[in-house]
Amino acid sequence: MIAQLPTSQPWYLIGLPGSGKSKVGRILGATLRVPHIDIDAEIERTSGKSISEIFSGEGEAAFRQQEAKAILATAGQPGVFSLGGGCVETPEVRDFLRDQTVIWIEAHQRELLARVSRNTRRPLLVDNPEQKLLDLTERRSPLYREVATCTAQSTSGPPDEVVRQILRQLLEWDFVSVRGTHRYNAITGSGVSELLAGYIPADATKALLVVPDALANQASHIESILRGAGLGVHVFVHRDGETAKDLETLSRAWDMLGEARIGRRDLVVTFGGGVSTDLGGFVAATWLRGVPVIHLPTTLLAMVDASIGGKTGIDTPAGKNLVGAFYDPLAVLVDLDSLVTLPQSEYTAGLAEVIKTGLIEDPEILRIIEDNPRIGDVAWAASEGMDTVAEIVQRSIAVKARIVSADRLEGGLRETLNYGHTMGHAIERAENYGMRHGEAVAIGCIFAAHLGVELGLINAETAHKHELLFESVGLPTRYRGNLSVLMEGLATDKKARQGKLRFVLLSAGTHPAVQEVTNDTVVRVATLLEMEER
Ligand code: NAD
Repeated sequence: MIAQLPTSQPWYLIGLPGSGKSKVGRILGATLRVPHIDIDAEIERTSGKSISEIFSGEGEAAFRQQEAKAILATAGQPGVFSLGGGCVETPEVRDFLRDQTVIWIEAHQRELLARVSRNTRRPLLVDNPEQKLLDLTERRSPLYREVATCTAQSTSGPPDEVVRQILRQLLEWDFVSVRGTHRYNAITGSGVSELLAGYIPADATKALLVVPDALANQASHIESILRGAGLGVHVFVHRDGETAKDLETLSRAWDMLGEARIGRRDLVVTFGGGVSTDLGGFVAATWLRGVPVIHLPTTLLAMVDASIGGKTGIDTPAGKNLVGAFYDPLAVLVDLDSLVTLPQSEYTAGLAEVIKTGLIEDPEILRIIEDNPRIGDVAWAASEGMDTVAEIVQRSIAVKARIVSADRLEGGLRETLNYGHTMGHAIERAENYGMRHGEAVAIGCIFAAHLGVELGLINAETAHKHELLFESVGLPTRYRGNLSVLMEGLATDKKARQGKLRFVLLSAGTHPAVQEVTNDTVVRVATLLEMEER
């Protein structure tokens, strides 16, 4: 079901005491950039009395009247409103809620009891809370059900999980919170770029919009959102493709920032693939030693990989991504509508990173790919398959978010995201970057899997599964070239230490890890896979 955003109408949270309405409401409001109002707190504020005082001094009936008045007064107001647990017992409130977007947060008795016993402010639960909660559940559950548009389950997990359930049900969106130098949201779904205005820092007056040539027309929508929010917008259009990650382009962007007098409180927005997020992110990181940046990734690769985790940078004659900075964005808005214009070849290349993510961390991604034979077709992905693609994109982002949150500066764990990249980079280098990164990664993952078989870490069936997965979405599985050139490339890999090659390898029953592999083993597997051109 697709509901209207609470930027144009209210969303109401209902549920028993302890279900988490206030906490969830706060996170939901902050994610969607709308106000969050707790009606109980609002009544306390306007009456100057606590809820307990109103109950004991004026009685429950008087409180319910005040509550109904406060709720009805919110009609048509944008925002997320957390309502008191008993409001549904007032018929007037139920009548009102029936026509609204209402989210019932349901929680297990045990969970509710644990939470309410930590809070002594609940007037209806003072004596024998266990029995009282049971009574309330029995009486109110049918009333909640009657007015609810959707139901979210609150468990002992973090409240973010409840927010995710709500976003999925009402908007088919998802979000994940990433921990970097600060926490930021990555929100995924069709139409999420509409949230851009809400994420603009309150004191920004200008923005630099970084876009590739191919998206210059499409970017006018983003430009008008920024202008609509009152910003002066300067559009920086760069060449398509990797060559834009160079010093000359960077220098032109700095010039534009200077001419536009972009200040430290202003904003950089990127709208494009990984080249735009890397370049625009680095522009933001370096201008005035850092101005806020929001990424709107438009390729599958940028959605699941480049926009998350704060790596930014450019290429130099000495190699790719050698100059850069870790610089976290304010937010990442992954609008799946961008898939509509994405060329098939770019989509296929992005799927390599998605499959890689499934292989290292999330087998559910692999199951979805196996179960959906059309998943490799971008036209399907951008239309009837969008829900399915949303699921694999969200799962991939969640894995990357979890890993970079635990290891922002790539001290160890983050290296596992480089599964398939060691041989992948060597192939890209050997091909003078004429082969797509995703294609090289697909071959690199298959190579790593065969290394794993050779070292007894995984079985041959797993390596075969790698091949079937990549093949099923139209990615290559084999490479033929000059083995000694590949070996030279491997030696320059940043994971190599003291001349020893190191690969990320899968290992049955445990997490992937970086392992030293001898040159002999690499050559043996390369020979087995007939990589040497004859
Ligand atoms: P890209 O940004 O060059 O985009 C590919 C092409 O698609 C470009 O021509 C672009 O203009 C076009 N395009 C983008 N979105 C489109 C859309 N929706 N419709 C039509 N055309 C569209 O390439 P990429 O594959 O997205 O990114 C590759 C870059 O990402 C590399 O430079 C790589 O180093 C970087 N990267 C960075 C990280 C990181 O963590 N920072 C991770 C992975 C990759």
